[in-house]
Amino acid sequence: MADQNFNPFKMAQQQFDGVAKQLDLDQATCDFLRTPEREFHFSIPVRMDDGSHKVFRGFRCQHSDARGPAKGGIRFHPNETVNTVRALSMWMTWKTACVDIPLGGAKGGVICDPRILSLREQEAICRGYIRQLWKAIGPIQDIPAPDVMTNGQMMLWMLDEYEKITGMKYPGVITGKPVGVGGSLGRTEATGYGAIYALREALKELNIDIKKTTASVQGFGNVAQFAIQHYTQLGGKVIAASCWDNNQKKAVTFKKEAGITYEELIGITDKFGTIDQAKAKDLGYEILDGDAWIKQEVDILMPAALENQVNAETIKLIAPSVKVINECANGPTTPEADEVIKSKNIFLIPDFLCNAGGVTCSYFEQVQNNMNFYWEKDEVLQKLDQKMTAAYHGVSNMAKERKVYMRDAAYLVAIKRVADAAKLRGLV
Ligand code: NAD
Repeated sequence: MADQNFNPFKMAQQQFDGVAKQLDLDQATCDFLRTPEREFHFSIPVRMDDGSHKVFRGFRCQHSDARGPAKGGIRFHPNETVNTVRALSMWMTWKTACVDIPLGGAKGGVICDPRILSLREQEAICRGYIRQLWKAIGPIQDIPAPDVMTNGQMMLWMLDEYEKITGMKYPGVITGKPVGVGGSLGRTEATGYGAIYALREALKELNIDIKKTTASVQGFGNVAQFAIQHYTQLGGKVIAASCWDNNQKKAVTFKKEAGITYEELIGITDKFGTIDQAKAKDLGYEILDGDAWIKQEVDILMPAALENQVNAETIKLIAPSVKVINECANGPTTPEADEVIKSKNIFLIPDFLCNAGGVTCSYFEQVQNNMNFYWEKDEVLQKLDQKMTAAYHGVSNMAKERKVYMRDAAYLVAIKRVADAAKLRGLV
């Protein structure tokens, strides 16, 4: 989570401003796109299990709906800030535009720690969130989804509250629902798999055989788990993964030179992506410091936990062997670190391209909700692969054409699409 001095929204605006100049956008378009169109800040009062009352703070930022209904996850985190939510809502707009799905960008958050809340308290926060926001969301307005420390069960509580209030069935108001109650097969895998579809295409272009590569991953939550699963299915070897240990209040890295697998680690990991250290030791893992993941002598680094992790300080720790950084998380790299990555000629797959598999599959979920007809998992993953592959090559071609860094190319592709939509609508 962001430290006190780090403002992810400023960083997102800084990135936008650079690209706006390259696209020669007029002032009104810049003003329109560098700030969320709408923001909601609200209180969620909850009666706790011990009988006391507690008030949680919630946010929803709708950055842009120029290309379609706004779309983005809801995060539950004790250090959540409105600036993080603002930045993430903006990145959602670029992400949906980058993969060319007809949606805009939004993000939500609640300052709370579900790891220390009972299920009943979590449910109360979910329902309270919808009671405050229901008028501003909907299948053709703004469609939330799970994100950091939220899950399908929570989405279903939210859907249920929305349907209770409106008195109608609206399965498409929220995505990431459990399968069987409007969820799509393949959604759980989508973000991690999507990141690896993009990585697979990048390695082909770089003439690197994926089977001869090694990787180190930060995080072992939803995204990291399935990125690791698919990367190893394609023949790659992951030698380290890290996680946050909430008891010790520190990050820990788990290393196995012979290669770690999803199947082995998942059995000793809780639902928050925390790996059990004692059990990992028994399975032959070395337990290292939190930043050890970034120091590994590997070909590929995959930050798949939080923003601001590859920064001016940690970038100094990366080994000369690193050829690719696959940004599975949102906003993991700061502009200072970007400069170092460019100077070292490391190939970067930027976050809103790399992790767009989740929102793409959420879009598929909505399409299925609207048809009330559900695809098999293979069909979902095949469609996801097509979208991610096309998006990767769209960005890569832009990078080659304009001879720019991949992050700049992704911004050029995405911002141009959103700016064009806003212009065509006559908004700016
Ligand atoms: P998650 O809550 O399932 O997992 C987060 C993981 O990161 C956990 O293993 C946690 O222990 C670990 N972690 C937290 N702090 C850490 C630290 N300081 N060092 C090392 N590990 C740490 O979250 P997720 O859904 O996997 O999301 C991960 C990232 O991907 C976030 O940036 C999120 O915004 C982004 N993302 C998620 C999705 C999705 O579909 N879940 C889609 C797009 C982007």
